Amino acid sequence: MRIDLHAHSTASDGTDTPAELVATATAAGLDVLALTDHDTTAGWADAVDALPVGLRLIRGAEFSCVAPDGRGGDVSVHLLGYLFDPASEAIIAEQVRLRDERRVRLRAMAARMAADGYPVDPDEVLASLPPEASAGRPHLARALVSAGVVGNVDEAFRRFLNGDGSYYTGRADTDVHAAIRMVRAAGGVAILAHPAARRRGPVIDTSVIADLAAEGLAGVEVDHPDHSDGDRAALREIAAALDLLVTGSSDYHGTNKPVALGQETTAPEVLERIEELAASSRVAALTG
Ligand code: AMP
Ligand code: FE
Ligand code: FE
Ligand code: ZN
Repeated sequence: MRIDLHAHSTASDGTDTPAELVATATAAGLDVLALTDHDTTAGWADAVDALPVGLRLIRGAEFSCVAPDGRGGDVSVHLLGYLFDPASEAIIAEQVRLRDERRVRLRAMAARMAADGYPVDPDEVLASLPPEASAGRPHLARALVSAGVVGNVDEAFRRFLNGDGSYYTGRADTDVHAAIRMVRAAGGVAILAHPAARRRGPVIDTSVIADLAAEGLAGVEVDHPDHSDGDRAALREIAAALDLLVTGSSDYHGTNKPVALGQETTAPEVLERIEELAASSRVAALTG
């Protein structure tokens, strides 16, 4: 059984449509794929419609959150929510708010770049997105590539879009404790995405993971392309101490990132546990 629990489609900042993504998953020899677009469930229906025989889809999303960093400040973290009810009013409202934040913030970054002579037309970028898709920095990166300003997406991030760069504009992300509660209340399971991915910027102090576990976090994504062997060993130890599940996933973004679907995988018994937890949290959501 090959299980990849984290992948993006054109509903956020991946380059495969949901239908292409499930075809890529089959070609990669996967048995189970989770679709986890940033702050949207808009890709789910197309992925289900295109689902090839022999591939199972786990419906999910990656929630943009802010967390205490454990050093007296705050830090951006991503929370993977699996198998939650997409009709949850709280989740819908928060995802609508975040996608709106994302558009406003993309315009702000584009305006700052245009003022410095780097032409990116935010209207064109936003008009090219499917309905209810999440706009993100990779869309700006591709626009910079198309305009000939940079050679590739990675260069766009290095020169223009990194968190410490002068064009970077922040966003009001969801408090991670609230996000965990929201996912659980909607019958879902919450897993902390790539907690040690320093490539994204500052990361959360591992001491904070205990507080998240107390809120109902079910697991941590340990095997991730951005994690070193040392990170993985340390996270595995923390997960064992806190009785948290350990997942592995590629965080595939199509041609926006140099990782292959299925490059990292999750053990079948962990997926089973996630499905059991979702089932019991659905019962709890209905009765309590
Ligand atoms: P945003 O959600 O708009 O803040 O953009 C963050 C997204 O940019 C992440 O989810 C990654 O997909 C992508 N990203 C971050 N750094 C890089 C990089 N160096 N190269 C390619 N994509 C990146
Ligand atoms: Fe992304
Ligand atoms: Fe992420
Ligand atoms: Zn991701």
